[in-house]
Amino acid sequence: MTDYDVIVLGTGAAGLTAAVTAAELGARVGLFEKGAMIGGTTVYSGGMIWIPLNQHEPAEKGDSREKALEYLKALSNDTISDEMAETYIDKGPEMVRWLHDRTPVQFYALPDFPDYHPEQPGGMPHGGRSLETPLFPYGELGEWKDRIHISPYYPTYHLTIGQTTLGQAVPEELTPEEMQRRAENDERGMGLALGGRLLKACLDRGVEPQPSHRAVELIMEDGEVAGVVFETPEGRKEVHAPNVVIATGGFEHNSELKRAFLRGPCTHTVAVDTNTGDGLKMAMRVGAMLGNMREAWWMPMIELPTDIVPTGKQLLTYERTLPGAIMVNREAKRFTNEAANYNAFGAAFHEMDTTMGVYRNLPCWLVFDQTWLDKYGFAGGLGGEEKARTDWIASSDTLAGLGEKVGIPGDVLEQTVERFNANARDLHDPDFKRGWSAQDQWWGDPTLRDGTARASLGPLETAPYYALPVFSGALGTKGGPATDTSARVLDVDGDVIPGLYAAGNAMSSPLGMTYGGAGGTIGPAMLFGYLAGRDIATRVGASTPAALAGAHSAA
Ligand SMILES: Cc1cc2nc3c(=O)[nH]c(=O)nc-3n(C[C@H](O)[C@H](O)[C@H](O)COP(=O)(O)OP(=O)(O)OC[C@H]3O[C@@H](n4cnc5c(N)ncnc54)[C@H](O)[C@@H]3O)c2cc1C
Repeated sequence: MTDYDVIVLGTGAAGLTAAVTAAELGARVGLFEKGAMIGGTTVYSGGMIWIPLNQHEPAEKGDSREKALEYLKALSNDTISDEMAETYIDKGPEMVRWLHDRTPVQFYALPDFPDYHPEQPGGMPHGGRSLETPLFPYGELGEWKDRIHISPYYPTYHLTIGQTTLGQAVPEELTPEEMQRRAENDERGMGLALGGRLLKACLDRGVEPQPSHRAVELIMEDGEVAGVVFETPEGRKEVHAPNVVIATGGFEHNSELKRAFLRGPCTHTVAVDTNTGDGLKMAMRVGAMLGNMREAWWMPMIELPTDIVPTGKQLLTYERTLPGAIMVNREAKRFTNEAANYNAFGAAFHEMDTTMGVYRNLPCWLVFDQTWLDKYGFAGGLGGEEKARTDWIASSDTLAGLGEKVGIPGDVLEQTVERFNANARDLHDPDFKRGWSAQDQWWGDPTLRDGTARASLGPLETAPYYALPVFSGALGTKGGPATDTSARVLDVDGDVIPGLYAAGNAMSSPLGMTYGGAGGTIGPAMLFGYLAGRDIATRVGASTPAALAGAHSAA
């Protein structure tokens, strides 16, 4: 006797997409969440998805299947199979259209948001592949509206990500009246918009999440999935279904698993605390093959007072890309293009000093001057008084003094800044090519974008100088059970484990080590949730051939 056709574990983008797809195609869906609140890391996020050839991509951008595949191949360093890359490029647009035609899960293109490595073959320097979600009025969620958690990283959430102009406060066109209207209407943007829309799509199909249910074990019968054991506040509970989707996020909050698998230090993460690798352990216990275990969606991070950000940490996405700031390592030397995309920093953080046997670029610091601070403030356009508050940041009237304060050679720091300044005044960086890429220019000072490196390069010349430690972190890990192109989990011999599926950061990422552009994590999470939902509906015979055909013809 089964309780459902499918049990979906986790209420992030991957789980919610799997749930809505399976339900729309006629399956009986049980949706379970470990936390007391809904939405996972997804609702903490910007809510963007990176899907080449999506229906919103302007035709004049000239994207093509060949270009998108060429780009993924160029970035993958052989960590993606051709069939996974082809599935991503071929099925991603189908998923966007399918949701668009049937649910409130809508997107539009951020037309000029460049790919993260736009100069690679097949890269898009003027955007088109990154989509974002319109604001969503939370009143539509009824009693569920207060059960989705708010992002500590985007406290001003009545904005779309495109309206959080990087490096600036609220754009001028967003008048106080418009902001008030949004607040009164409780229209939420970014990850909250995406999570809210996905949840609404589930609720519309009678699928209500069951929070405070921590999945701990798969129930197997004759080698096939038969259900899940949960820990709940009321005790252990068995729920039966012939299909289970593991969408439990990564193992970023499990130090033992991180030590076992990740290729280098990952001391900080902004994912929800409940992502402790439960799904990975469940899959390992039933013999799943693992893949991509070394990788994460890397992110440089800083620590800051909890009265500024309650979690005491923040992503370091664009402060380092603005003119007047550099990053230096333990030798007080620059070590990478500070304006590179955040994921690329993982490579810099994990570089070894082969003589000393230590990580060459950890610890490291963001260094900036007073002009930078006056112009940009700190920590994500938080504005107000925090903008000028510096009591938590090491500072000195001289670079030598600053070096001494943080324990790096002050004379080298002086030389580093002198060299950087001389080149920055000429708008070039012969050492690390900073400001050369379209992505560097886009993430720099928006008021200085002129097609040159000006938006990112500028000297540090006004005392006092400041230095802030930067840590090697991640949005989440991206290794887990290996799957086929239908999200079905494979065992160590490459055979399907009947009834077991994985999606999102819980799975072996179909994109290997790549991070194609903004939305590069939620894009695959939603796609493999969608593919799982479709396969399950077929497997349980819930979906009529007509419904499935309808899904195809919508693509
Ligand atoms: C500030 C910020 C901005 C970001 N911006 C973007 C962006 O714009 N675009 C993008 O692509 N990515 C972005 N990311 C990354 C992105 O949010 C995550 O990679 C993505 O949301 C992961 O989705 P998921 O569904 O795999 O996992 P999650 O959204 O983390 O969901 C996993 C869920 O599973 C639950 N769970 C865990 N264990 C169990 C269990 N045993 N039983 C039941 N449930 C369980 C968790 O509680 C959680 O709710 C951002 C992240 C942050 C923090």
